Amino acid sequence: MSDPRPKEHSARDLLRELFPETHRELFGEAQGGPALPPTLGLYPVADGRLALVHGDQLAEFTPIPPKGSSALHCDLCHHTRSRSEAHVYRVQVGARRTRYVTLCTPTHGCQSRAGARGLEALAWRIFPIENLHAD
Ligand SMILES: [Zn+2]
Repeated sequence: MSDPRPKEHSARDLLRELFPETHRELFGEAQGGPALPPTLGLYPVADGRLALVHGDQLAEFTPIPPKGSSALHCDLCHHTRSRSEAHVYRVQVGARRTRYVTLCTPTHGCQSRAGARGLEALAWRIFPIENLHAD
């Protein structure tokens, strides 16, 4: 039998690879807490982007430049927001599939308003992500 070890690429590994500072913030290194890995949540990463983590999956939300001046409707907490309080994010969910998600800019308040159910509903819209690197 050859080496049966699957390639493990958990969201946590991805975070550590892509955004080491965020990884440190989330999982800590010597904080002494039990530091259970979060299974579902949105985390601010570099350059205004957000990472949606759900179990071992991770999606990256990239803010796109605002157009126009109409109000935005947050897809997570369902509040109506002005242009300065929310962003439209682009999420690559497949080689040729992109989703657009509107979220409040201060994500902590937004997530607490939405609660676990709101986050789950969002995760359902985004995951699973297709293999983006199929050439
Ligand atoms: Zn919101």
